[in-house]
Amino acid sequence: LSTSSCPKVCIVGSGPAGFYTAQHLIKARQDVEVDIYERLPVPFGLVRFGVAPDHPEVKNVINTFTQTAKHSRCSFYGNVNVGKDVTVDELQGAYHAVVLVRTRRLRPNPKTRIHALTVFLIYIFCQSYGAEGNRRMGVPGEDLPGVYSAKDFVGWYNGLPSCRELKPDLSCETAIILGQGNVALDVARILLSPLDILKKTDITQPALEALAESRVQKVLIVGRRGPMQVACTIKELREMVNLPGTRPEMVTADFEGVSEALKDVPRPRKRLTELLLKTALDAPGDKELERRRNAARVWGFRFYRSPTEILADPGRSRTAGIRLAVNRLEGSGDAARAVLTGEVEDVSCGLVISSIGYKSLPIDPAVPFDSHRAVMPNSVGRVHQAPGLYCSGWLKTGPTGVIATTMNNSFDTARSLLEDMDSGALDVSPAKPGSQAVSSLLEKRGVKPVTFSDWEKIDSLETRRGDACGKPREKLLSVEEMLKVARA
Ligand code: FAD
Repeated sequence: LSTSSCPKVCIVGSGPAGFYTAQHLIKARQDVEVDIYERLPVPFGLVRFGVAPDHPEVKNVINTFTQTAKHSRCSFYGNVNVGKDVTVDELQGAYHAVVLVRTRRLRPNPKTRIHALTVFLIYIFCQSYGAEGNRRMGVPGEDLPGVYSAKDFVGWYNGLPSCRELKPDLSCETAIILGQGNVALDVARILLSPLDILKKTDITQPALEALAESRVQKVLIVGRRGPMQVACTIKELREMVNLPGTRPEMVTADFEGVSEALKDVPRPRKRLTELLLKTALDAPGDKELERRRNAARVWGFRFYRSPTEILADPGRSRTAGIRLAVNRLEGSGDAARAVLTGEVEDVSCGLVISSIGYKSLPIDPAVPFDSHRAVMPNSVGRVHQAPGLYCSGWLKTGPTGVIATTMNNSFDTARSLLEDMDSGALDVSPAKPGSQAVSSLLEKRGVKPVTFSDWEKIDSLETRRGDACGKPREKLLSVEEMLKVARA
């Protein structure tokens, strides 16, 4: 195999963390070559499969990622599941640096133990929510039909192939969403949005059809703490407040003492809480009153409540309600703790969607991992006590943050890596074969990667199909279909 002496970096995962890491590496050094390996035949991770369909402006980052992918020193290899089709060990042999998105499928390999890493072998774990862990609620009944994780529900309406068969039952009137972050609000909005709005987005056709038949009229967004601790941003709250055909319904008592507590809080929290207070307590003007009167659908926050049990119908065949423990707060601000009061409340509902966050898991017992915080202990992306080991994305920071924060932390990690190359802490002088070695391994195993121009065939078909029905794109829903189009 021919090799060139330039530093070869391989990134596993083509979400924002992967693309921003690649972008920074390519820009900062004129000699680095970057290959991006992606499990699915299509790129962009959660930008395609997470971001809500009615947020097209957020998806504009795809334009920048496309520029990176088309750079002469960057290549995309889709349909390559690292850990299954090619091992991390093999990637390490082929590249000076391997940038990983953690996945369950990466099996621990004794040869990849940290103490065996040589100075030119780098791991960067670019982790986000990726493939793993829904955080379980840990309450009886959570496996009943009618209970879904937000991760799967979002994957279903966004066309993630593994969630295609979810087919959530939307035949009930009341849905409960557990969690009060942006993902919870995305889900609430999708459940309650008028069809005319959704029809113009890239939501999948099966989801659109199911939502057209949906009988959900009321969505309660439940949090264990109070109005001062909601985790959504003002943009998402404003969208909820202004959602056509819906009206808010809050519990006035939940807001006692909130205005008084607002004085010393940081501005973003203050603005968010003021909007909540206005929505919950202010008498609406004539126009708003009229709007609310005509609204058939209802949404509201329910504060100071933690789920203790999902209640089944008499036949125990499906969800009929949820038992919520009533909490009080100890302390104030972000540090406030929810403490059980001993009271409980039952709420009838047929749909429960838990949006209580995602959990990173360690990929290898030999890799330093803080199980409590579900992050790799690190300083600016350099993993503690593991020279040559880097992390970025949610594995670095915990599973929070938007694309902009992922961008910043990916740039930081890339900077750390470049500094180490410059200082010699990372030796990139031995020549490495890069993708040539990996391609021949994949060929032997019957794995045919999808190139970026193959993806562009999928992209073009999807946008054409979208054009035909007034949507920005109509996504292909199975890996088989994607591969068929890519190889046509
Ligand atoms: P991901 O985007 O998950 O990318 C990881 C990639 O790695 C995936 O493509 C995956 O297929 C691939 N991969 C996994 N395992 C393997 C393997 N074994 N081999 C090869 N490839 C693999 N941010 C905003 O700014 N605005 C929003 O409106 C917004 N909405 C969101 C909505 C939801 C529901 C969620 C969950 C997040 C949202 N975010 C939003 C946050 C944003 O999506 C994340 O910050 C960002 O996607 C994280 O990027 P990432 O690259 O770390 O992970």
